Amino acid sequence: MSDLSEKEQAFIERVRSMLETYIEFLGECGIEPGAGSYILSTSGRIYHGVPFIGARGIHGEEDAIGSMITEEGLNARLETVLVVGAPDHIIMPCGICRKTIWRFGVEGATVICATQSLKKIKKFAISELYPHPNARAKVKKQSRDDIIR
Ligand SMILES: [Zn+2]
Repeated sequence: MSDLSEKEQAFIERVRSMLETYIEFLGECGIEPGAGSYILSTSGRIYHGVPFIGARGIHGEEDAIGSMITEEGLNARLETVLVVGAPDHIIMPCGICRKTIWRFGVEGATVICATQSLKKIKKFAISELYPHPNARAKVKKQSRDDIIR
């Protein structure tokens, strides 16, 4: 964790107990864990998203970002994403999630990929994972009137 900032380390520590509780819940339900992702918004709130299949597979990153938007609106932005992998290896966000993180992330948003124990961690800037975005695709700040229409 040496390359994490103090703020990122504090985020990981806040997630740790939430993640342990969630993994316990999955065990009680007999569900094979996909622990999903956690995001830290600029408001300081943490949102947990889990993978699920509706008409298509939704990944934890998208689900967490959707929760942030539900609670804070379309102008909400994330600072950091934690993608929780398997017990013994990390997983990387897919292309759709990378674009979604970029669209709803601050400039310089970070993506932290970790094992389920949070012991093995790799940190990336979203610009490393999504280096050539279409600048027009960034969601514009919207007023409340725009959202209601
Ligand atoms: Zn994805």
